[in-house]
Amino acid sequence: MSVKPTVKNPKNDSLVVSEMSLMGYEQVVSCQDAETGLKAIIAIHNTTLGPALGGTRMWNYESEEQALQDVLRLSRGMSFKAAISGLELGGGKAVIIGDSTTEKTEALMRKFGSFVDSLGGKYITAEDVGMNTKDMEYVRMETKYVTGIPESMGGSGDPSPVTAFGVYMGMKASARYKWGSDNLDGKIVLVQGVGHVGENLLKHLTDEGAKVIINDINETRLSELAEQYGAIIVMGDAIFDLDIDIYAPCALGATVNPDTIARLKCEIIAGSANNQLADEDRDGQLCADKGILYAPDFLINAGGLINVYSEIKGYDREHAINQTRAIYDTTLEIFKKAELDEITTHAAALAIAEQRIADRKNQ
Ligand code: NAD
Repeated sequence: MSVKPTVKNPKNDSLVVSEMSLMGYEQVVSCQDAETGLKAIIAIHNTTLGPALGGTRMWNYESEEQALQDVLRLSRGMSFKAAISGLELGGGKAVIIGDSTTEKTEALMRKFGSFVDSLGGKYITAEDVGMNTKDMEYVRMETKYVTGIPESMGGSGDPSPVTAFGVYMGMKASARYKWGSDNLDGKIVLVQGVGHVGENLLKHLTDEGAKVIINDINETRLSELAEQYGAIIVMGDAIFDLDIDIYAPCALGATVNPDTIARLKCEIIAGSANNQLADEDRDGQLCADKGILYAPDFLINAGGLINVYSEIKGYDREHAINQTRAIYDTTLEIFKKAELDEITTHAAALAIAEQRIADRKNQ
């Protein structure tokens, strides 16, 4: 199937999109509404395997160009995440430009929902950073193409606990590959970002006896969680100089870059954040050169996607958890492929995902 990229901008044509940056994308839609103040972009990367499912992120981007780059990068990642997880889904993502703590209203979320609806099911949304299940309820009022709605409305609720479980599985598989045992008891793990996913990961790790260092910009949350789980707080950029076994990025992307890789003393990187490598090829290779085993983000953070996918099929939490548990075996397979083919772990994961999409295209 070949679909020409289109940029739809029904009410305002101020968004300038270079043709080059859209290469390889099926459709990019600019959603603007003066009445509610909505400024959003929906990017559909690939629908070969199924409808493009990906969350909506609300963030105070400095410019529309920055928002566009983010949504393009994230939607591409979703295609590969669905493909490697064996789901019948394509990749898409949406971003809303604005401050989620002050600019989010029911009217804005419903307007966004009507834009999603206008795509007729080609794009299915869910929550991401800056969103919650209540927001999805408003979106649901305008479209059925939304997942991650509250359990009380027949949905699967917050996907974060399942995402955290998948990250934990990927981390244990990494430990097994690196150290011959997946036991994390006594290992020092740095969790950067103790939000929805980070806190759930912290729970799994402390239950198993790992020593957890936590880092966040939210100091109140840090002290509460340190007290609750007996975790150690380290603030700011100093985290990259610590003696640790595992680094789990669970806040934002691009924290694995030449500067941090040079400083990091860990042997494993395994976390939930999307696009952890600032540059996929360069930084994947730098990690490998330094003997750091990098668990590909789009593989081990797929639990949330698996969970919302299950919602489309008729939600079955046990099935979603079991499918997420399989991340352990897939992670091991990817590490073996990377070693055999002498490529980075990120490249190995990408190759398997791209192959699945190509095979389906040729069927
Ligand atoms: P969240 O917003 O609940 O938590 C993020 C946390 O990171 C917050 O506590 C925030 O204060 C902190 N943070 C922000 N900037 C920081 C910085 N510079 N340094 C340290 N901490 C910082 O988000 P979440 O749902 O827990 O998701 C975390 C990451 O995992 C995001 O990158 C998200 O895209 C990714 N992810 C989440 C899911 C999911 O199911 N929620 C699924 C896949 C991927």
